[in-house]
Amino acid sequence: MIETLTSDAGSIAVRRPARARVVVVGAGAIGLAVALQLRRAGVEGVVVVDCNSSAGMGSTSRANGGVRAQFTTTVNIAFSQFTIEQLRELHEQSAGQVGFKSVGYLFLTGTDAGEIALRRAWELQRSLGVDVAWLSAAGVIERAPFLNVDGLAAATFCASDGIIDPHGVTSALWAEARRLGTSFAFDTEVLGVEAGPSPRVRTTTGDIETEFVVNAAGPFARTLAATAGIDLPVVTRRRNLACTEAVDGIAGDIPMCVDNDTGILIRREGAGFLIGFSDPSDPPSTDTAFDPAFLDAIAARVGNRFSFLEDVPINSRKCWAGLYPETPDHHAIVDAPAELPWFIQCAGFGGHGIMHSFAAGQAVTELITESRCTTFDLHPLRLSRFDEPGAVVETAVL
Ligand SMILES: Cc1cc2nc3c(=O)[nH]c(=O)nc-3n(C[C@H](O)[C@H](O)[C@H](O)COP(=O)(O)OP(=O)(O)OC[C@H]3O[C@@H](n4cnc5c(N)ncnc54)[C@H](O)[C@@H]3O)c2cc1C
Repeated sequence: MIETLTSDAGSIAVRRPARARVVVVGAGAIGLAVALQLRRAGVEGVVVVDCNSSAGMGSTSRANGGVRAQFTTTVNIAFSQFTIEQLRELHEQSAGQVGFKSVGYLFLTGTDAGEIALRRAWELQRSLGVDVAWLSAAGVIERAPFLNVDGLAAATFCASDGIIDPHGVTSALWAEARRLGTSFAFDTEVLGVEAGPSPRVRTTTGDIETEFVVNAAGPFARTLAATAGIDLPVVTRRRNLACTEAVDGIAGDIPMCVDNDTGILIRREGAGFLIGFSDPSDPPSTDTAFDPAFLDAIAARVGNRFSFLEDVPINSRKCWAGLYPETPDHHAIVDAPAELPWFIQCAGFGGHGIMHSFAAGQAVTELITESRCTTFDLHPLRLSRFDEPGAVVETAVL
């Protein structure tokens, strides 16, 4: 039976079926990409459930919009390569809705330790086919003449990295998933996931019997997993972004510039600049109000490489915060755990969930259709790794 519910989501019919083959919990970039890849693979009966009244209203709506293959581990590089390619295709298919701009990412360091780390990452990226250039200070100035390169030890640049519009990505994914027949149930909170004779998803608008449940609940994935007795070591932290007032005399299509020594990153946003910084000392939190202390944190650091921004006022109407769901090793969890293989975990993407969305969708699809993933080696993303020694940590977390 298909039940049609009313919603504020425009004229879109919103359905909560009593039965579905796959229930995806969460209509953020991850849940949408999972649903889309499932439908592309011909899986029938896919329903996406979200407690909000529309898609992409969680962390997805708060993202900076960077997409890059410059990571430090094989699996993260592979997830980025796959997703960036798919985002480019979706950009073409959606007449530019994705807002993909290949402005590149520029990483900078002024320390010996930073240079060693950057070189190790650069070598791995190159070995995996990512076209990353090793730059001298002159090469940096050529691409970004506004940077302070005093004491620069090393820099890397990948021209195929870039930026997308998170809202455009949501719209394009949602439209394509709908076009292929995915059902969406908004204003519907999932209260719990139960085993029983067949898996059952309990929601505020009724139960859904199913074969598979995908946990794409982003910052709330740990709470959802716990309803079925699964402990996901995902801790949620508030991350802030602030935009400046207009800055003249600098091109609009500059790269995303990352100062590895302070953690500050900048890119163009309208006529001004967006400034990001993930403070490693931020405590766990689910608060999404902008933190005014962030302005002090960036003021203390921005001058290291971006001294031209030191005296530019912040536009207080363009500051916001959102949540990073983080794992201890800064890799996501994409796994069908042995104890409940029908409850697939797809969470813990921290600040890189949009740039890993299609890969996550593909991996989950293969776990459902083939019981194993062949496109990616998911071993580094297994849930059980947190009980084992020898953690491999992603260090390019921004
Ligand atoms: C400040 C900031 C900057 C970022 N910058 C980038 C960036 O540059 N590049 C990048 O790739 N990523 C970035 N990210 C991360 C990115 O936004 C996310 O990883 C990505 O959007 C994927 O999010 P998600 O789908 O996992 O979670 P969300 O977008 O939060 O979606 C989860 C959904 O699950 C729903 N939900 C949760 N629990 C329940 C329940 N019990 N019942 C029903 N529904 C439920 C929520 O309503 C929500 O809509 C950034 C994030 C932040 C906060």
